[in-house]
Amino acid sequence: MRRITKEIKINGCVIGGDNPIAVQSMLNTKTDDIEASCRQIDALLSAGCDIIRFAVPDIKTADAIYEYKTRYPSVPFVADIHFDHRIALRCIEAGIDKIRINPGNIGSEQGVKDVVSAAKRKNIPIRIGVNGGSLEKHILQKYGAPTAEAIAESAFYHVSLLEKFDFSDIVISVKSSDLKTMIQANRIIAAKCDYPLHLGVTEAGVARTGKLKSAVGIGSLLCDGIGDTVRVSLTDDPVNEVKAAKELLDALGMTDDKITVVSCPTCGRTQIDLIKLCEAFDGIKNELKPSKKIKVALMGCAVNGPGEARECDIGIAGGKGEALLFKNGTPLYKVEYDKILQILKEEINKL
Ligand code: SF4
Repeated sequence: MRRITKEIKINGCVIGGDNPIAVQSMLNTKTDDIEASCRQIDALLSAGCDIIRFAVPDIKTADAIYEYKTRYPSVPFVADIHFDHRIALRCIEAGIDKIRINPGNIGSEQGVKDVVSAAKRKNIPIRIGVNGGSLEKHILQKYGAPTAEAIAESAFYHVSLLEKFDFSDIVISVKSSDLKTMIQANRIIAAKCDYPLHLGVTEAGVARTGKLKSAVGIGSLLCDGIGDTVRVSLTDDPVNEVKAAKELLDALGMTDDKITVVSCPTCGRTQIDLIKLCEAFDGIKNELKPSKKIKVALMGCAVNGPGEARECDIGIAGGKGEALLFKNGTPLYKVEYDKILQILKEEINKL
């Protein structure tokens, strides 16, 4: 069951509640290099990114937001700000849709109050982003290490600084490069408040390891119903972060994709080239137009094949150079290997 949270609006994208899990990424271009950044924004949007964040290291850079908001008025943009509340104020003035700050590190209490007032006036949310690598000294001293409890306490400390000024349009993220710590910290937060959670494994590494770590960390929490927006952090092109996030959500059945594929790993009993067939099917999957969400079984033989195929809307169980086609739980007819892909296409479009 999905955890019940507040709904938070970031331009046209609503996160929390029972809204779809939003995918986000962060530009790695210089924010004041408008043309390079716009190219990356276009690529991220084409890949299906819902929310785009950029670093705003100084006040001058904040002025670039006017241009992004003019060019992309409906894209939800987030400004990532540290240490100086005046940068946050300038970003808000420039029309940013959400800011990511840690209220405890952006200056005086008056500074936090000013940022909160400006965010309220513009009706934009604030994400508190706590990272195990940069906890407050007093919390580190209390726990001795960046444990899950320490990270959660830091998050609630920052939340309290905003709530003090009657601000609750909040999203929380608690990250750690240690998977178990990240998972546990999110569980602690999820149990104690109803703010939406942004999930991510920080410093997850290059694509190969980062995807795996994120699948375990983010995936475990999503399976428990925890998490409302995700970023798969990779030391890679941000477009690959979006692709990885989509794949992760797809694996969990949390996307709008109409087709879920069940396929066997193949073994010594397989007598058709199932790997080639599955790859070919993966290549055409998005072109198919069933009228509802369906499950497709692509199975190698008569051992587990018929059982899986019967449970799916459509499926095949491989034989010798051919396969038996199943539809809505019933075996229909045998299809020669070379015709399987075409028959699947035709039958799926009729579903
Ligand atoms: Fe092997 Fe058949 Fe199982 Fe596929 S379904 S792994 S071919 S036993």
